Formats: sequence, C-alpha cells, structure tokens
Amino acid sequence: MDSLVLELLDIKQITKDEALRLFDLDIEELFLVSSKIRKKYKGNKVKVCSIINAKSGQCSENCKFCAQSAFNKTDVKVYPLVDTEKIKEISTKALDNVGCFGIVSSGNSLNDNEIEKLCEMFKQHKKVSHLGVSIGRISDENFKKLKEAGIKKMHHNLETSENFYPNICSTHSYKERIDTIKRAKNFGFEICSGGLFGIGESLKDRIDLAFTLKEIGSDSVPMNFFMPIKGIALEHLPVMHPIEILKTIAIYRIILQTPDIMVCGGREMHLRDLQSWIFQAGANGMMTGGYLTTIGRDIITDRQMVKDLDMELEAE
Ligand code: SF4
Repeated sequence: MDSLVLELLDIKQITKDEALRLFDLDIEELFLVSSKIRKKYKGNKVKVCSIINAKSGQCSENCKFCAQSAFNKTDVKVYPLVDTEKIKEISTKALDNVGCFGIVSSGNSLNDNEIEKLCEMFKQHKKVSHLGVSIGRISDENFKKLKEAGIKKMHHNLETSENFYPNICSTHSYKERIDTIKRAKNFGFEICSGGLFGIGESLKDRIDLAFTLKEIGSDSVPMNFFMPIKGIALEHLPVMHPIEILKTIAIYRIILQTPDIMVCGGREMHLRDLQSWIFQAGANGMMTGGYLTTIGRDIITDRQMVKDLDMELEAE
C-alpha cells in the first residue's frame, strides 16, 4: 500500500502537494481513507436536498458552462420570479422527503422588490429553517432581511479555482464571490459553497478550490460535474470519466474532512451504475429530483439506494 495512504489512515491534515499526488492512487486505496473519514464525521447518515429554479434564464453574466447565461444560445426556459405562494407550496411538499430545499434564481442578483416578496413568504413558511437561498450577490441590507425572515443557509458556489476562474467568467470576479460568502458568514448564515468540475480546469485547480473552500469554512460543499448542454460555450468539452469523478470526491473528503459533501449535477449522467459509490468516495449527501436546467433522478429511487446501502436518511 502507498505510504501516503498509510499515513492518511491516521486521519491527518494534508498539504496541497500531497493532495495532488492522491490522483495517482488506485481508487480502492483512496476509498479506504475517504470512507474512514466520512464515517468518522458523518456516521451512516445521508443528507438529501432538492431545489427549485425560481427565476430562469436571460442572465447578464457570461459563465461559459451555464445554460441560463444570455451569452449562451440555449433553449432553456426563460421566466421571471415564480409566484412566491407557488414556491411555498412546492418547497413544503418537497420537505416531506428531503432535509433541505434550495430556492435558486438566475442572474447576478435579485432586486429589492423580489427579495421583499420572498422574505414575506419566508415569514409565513412553517419549514423556513430547512430552506436555503441561492440568489447571487446580496446587499448587507438584504442579508439582514433574509436573516430576520428565518433563512439559515446561503448558497454561493465558487465554481473553480481563483486562477482558472477568468477562463469561465469575466463579467464578475472571483473576489466578488468570496466577498458575498464572507459577508454571509458574518451575518451568521450557514455556507453552502462548492464547485463545478470538468470545465477544463487542471487537477491543481481542483486542489486549490478545495483548499479555498476549507479556508472560507464552507459548511456544505456541493460538487457538480459538467454536463455539455447544447448551445453553451463549453458544449464540446469531453465529459469526466466516472472513476475520475469518484477520485475527485474522495480527495475532497480527505482535504475537507468535516463539511457535508453533496453530489449534485452530473451524478446520474456520468456515474450511471456507480452512483452508490459516492458514499465510499466520502460524500454524505446528494441532490435529488433534478437540477436547474436538467432532469435528475426521483427521490423514491434515491431513497431505495440509501436503504440498500444500509445507510440512513437524515432530516436536517
Ligand atoms: S451561473 Fe449564475 S451568474 Fe453565471 S450565467 Fe448562470 S445564472 Fe448567471
């Protein structure tokens, strides 16, 4: 067995150079370490979340991977903020089966009026403590309003490393993203921030992102794997091999240790029969029921997978 694996089995902090070396190991060796760390911090529990695309398309930002960017010519649905009563109804029903429900909107930010409408609804929502929002940049004033309305979790992905970021987006900066996360943290929100893999980044970029997420103290790390949607700028990139995806998850668990690691977009498309391996790799959660612009797998099938693994669904 590789000497680094033997050292890591004692669960130690890892350096960036050591983390990069892990990509050369066999998946079985990585799993020995990553599943041990998952079990230590997460036991046998699995978190499941779902989302609504509450405002879709026509985004002014130029993220090359995103079907909702106005710079990409896709046939994604375009609609304004969904009626907040409808969001309440859909989220309440979803929360019978999942532990956390995210309200996600396209665009760099929502306007004050839209945030006001959401906050009014949150104040009436019986399960508001299980809701999270992913609504782009937020002013301090609106952070305060969201907090007062009962929202606990704020989602804002970093997507990739600071170094690679200019290759995928130039209409807003990495620093702006970090700033939003830091201010959310200062307001006392739980942070849900992760990335998208397979967009042309190097293995070093993946390691750099993991260390940045560790440094900012992301409580939950969603991992998405690039899906080539027709019309986006990155449409012709090759997709990731399932083993590469599983190795990336395992290395994230080894670096990050304690946060929730949630496998999100691309799980069904890329892992196929290997979907249940995400837990061996060190993930302790997944998104179910579909993503922003692509369909996923239903909760019944995902629940059965968790049951078959003799693991337990966790209500947050
Ligand atoms: S990722 Fe977000 S900010 Fe970027 S184009 Fe898509 S909706 Fe807009």
